[in-house]
Amino acid sequence: METQGPSRRALFRGQLLSRPVAIIGDGCFAEAGIVCRSCGDCCPESAIRFRPRIGLPPQAIVNEAACTGCGECVGACPGEAITLGAARRADAS
Ligand code: SF4
Ligand code: SF4
Repeated sequence: METQGPSRRALFRGQLLSRPVAIIGDGCFAEAGIVCRSCGDCCPESAIRFRPRIGLPPQAIVNEAACTGCGECVGACPGEAITLGAARRADAS
């Protein structure tokens, strides 16, 4: 009896979901009131934008669809706040 494995679509989707992307944690300097844009400055894909906030420095946000998981920002972050992990958005393709 022939068994069926996952569909090509499911495999493709699984690959996308497992692709690592940059994740910014609580150690980001901006959360301590310190202005920093090192991650955005070094990202070759311009995948990090900074959302203005009232009363705090702009918040770094990763565009998971644009992030390639290259890791440049991980080493550039002075707060060691960035890790690589699975994309949180299913449409981060
Ligand atoms: S480089 Fe690190 S500390 Fe600086 S904005 Fe990016 S995540 Fe925050
Ligand atoms: S892992 Fe690479 S592509 Fe993704 S945000 Fe960091 S520097 Fe940009």
